[in-house]
Amino acid sequence: MKLDFKRPKGMHDYYGEDSNVLLALYDLFFRFSVKHNFQYIETPIIEDEKVFTKSLGQMSDVVEKEMFYLKDSSKTEKYVLRPENTAGVIRAYFENGLSSEPQPLFYFYLGKMFRKENPQKGRLREFTQWGLEIINSENSFADFYIIYLNYKLLVKELKLEGVKILLNSLGCEKCRPKYKKKLISYYRRYKNKICYDCQRRLKENPLRLLDCKNAICQPYKKNAPLLIDYLCKNCEIHFQNLLQLLDKSEVVYQLDKTLVRGFDYYERTVFEIVIEGENFAIGGGGRYDLGKIWVNQNLPSVGSALGVERLKLVLEEKGKKILYASKPEIFVAYVGEELKHKAFEILENIRDNFDVIFNFFKQQLSAQLEYANKIGVKYVIIVAFEELSKNSVILKDMVNGTQEIIPINRLIDELKKRLIS
Ligand code: AMP
Repeated sequence: MKLDFKRPKGMHDYYGEDSNVLLALYDLFFRFSVKHNFQYIETPIIEDEKVFTKSLGQMSDVVEKEMFYLKDSSKTEKYVLRPENTAGVIRAYFENGLSSEPQPLFYFYLGKMFRKENPQKGRLREFTQWGLEIINSENSFADFYIIYLNYKLLVKELKLEGVKILLNSLGCEKCRPKYKKKLISYYRRYKNKICYDCQRRLKENPLRLLDCKNAICQPYKKNAPLLIDYLCKNCEIHFQNLLQLLDKSEVVYQLDKTLVRGFDYYERTVFEIVIEGENFAIGGGGRYDLGKIWVNQNLPSVGSALGVERLKLVLEEKGKKILYASKPEIFVAYVGEELKHKAFEILENIRDNFDVIFNFFKQQLSAQLEYANKIGVKYVIIVAFEELSKNSVILKDMVNGTQEIIPINRLIDELKKRLIS
C-alpha cells in the first residue's frame, strides 16, 4: 500500500529501538537537569520572527536562509518555527515578568527546533535540543557551571570518551569595535581573493568572517588577528576566572581562538562540545545579553544547547547502548475468555514488582504463548480454571519448558526467588 504523501525532507519518524533510545535520553535530561536545580521551561514551537531576527543577527545562516515561515503569517506578525530556543526563553522572561523571581534563574528545556538546512549525517531539518540557561548572572561561575554540567552528563552519566570543550572569548561591546577595525583592515588586503559571502561579511558583519568554512578563505582566516588579544580588562578577568575554575575541575578543554559560533547574540564566553573522531560538534553555547539588545536593560546570561539526535548517533557509533525500558521478564496468559479479568487482576498485582507484559487481544493460549516467545520473556504465568479453583496459577519456565503450580498468594515471592538473585 502506497500513500501519496510522505514526511518532510530532513525529518524522521522514530519507533522501535530508536524511539526507545530517545526516551532514555529524554529521561536522563529531565532527571539530570532537575537534580542540578534547573527548572523546566516550555515555550511555543512557533514564535514571532522578530524573536530571532532581532537576536541571532540578520547575517546569520539561520535568519538569512534557514527559517521555516508559517504561511498564514500576517503583515505585522510573521511567525516561524523556532530555529533555537535561547531567544524564546528570554522572550518569555520579559513577557512574564520573571525578574521578580529570585535571581539568577536556572532553566532547562527539551524540545524540537527547525532549520531549513541541506540534510546530511547529523544535520536535520527537525532536531531536538536539550538546553540549559542561567539567566541574570555575570559571574564566571555560571559559565563554568554550564560547561561543567554538559561535560558531566556526557562523561559521567553516559561514559563517553574523548569529550572536549573548545573555548573562546568574544569580548564585549567595549573591546569588540577596536578588534573589528583591525580585522577589517587585515581582510581588506584580500578582499578580491576571499569568497563572495566573505566579501559581504567584510562590509556588513566582519566577525562572521571567522566563521567561514569555504576552503579558499582558510589561509586568510588562519592569519587573521584574534579577538582574544584585544579583550578589555573586565573581559580578560572574566575569562581568566572561567579558566581557573575549569582548571580546578576535571573538564577537558582547549582554547580555540577562532571560535565565533553561528549567532550574533554571543559575547564573552563561547564554547563547543566536540568528541574525538566526530566531525561535528554535539553541543555549544555561550554568554549573551538579549536584555541589552531588546530593551536596553542588562540581563547577562549564559546557556548551552546539546543536539539529542547527534548524541544518539555518537552513542551508536561508540557502541553504547542506552534503553528506556528493560526487557519484560514475565508474560501473563489466560485460558478461556472468562478468565481474562482474573488474569488482568494478577497482572496488575505484580506490576509494581516486575517488568510484566500481556497480550489480551489474542484469545487462543497458543497465540498468546507464541507472542510471549517472540518477546523473549523468561516466565509465563498461565491463569487456567483447574488451578484457579485451588487459588493457584501455572508458572511456565520459557527457557527449559518446565511448568509448576504456584499458589497466587506466594506468586510474588516465588518470582522474586527466580528472577532476583
Ligand atoms: P546551535 O543552536 O547552532 O548552537 O547548535 C547546538 C547544537 O544543536 C549543535 O551542536 C548540534 O548538536 C545541534 N544542532 C544544531 N543544528 C542541527 C541540525 N541541523 N541537525 C541536528 N542537530 C543540530
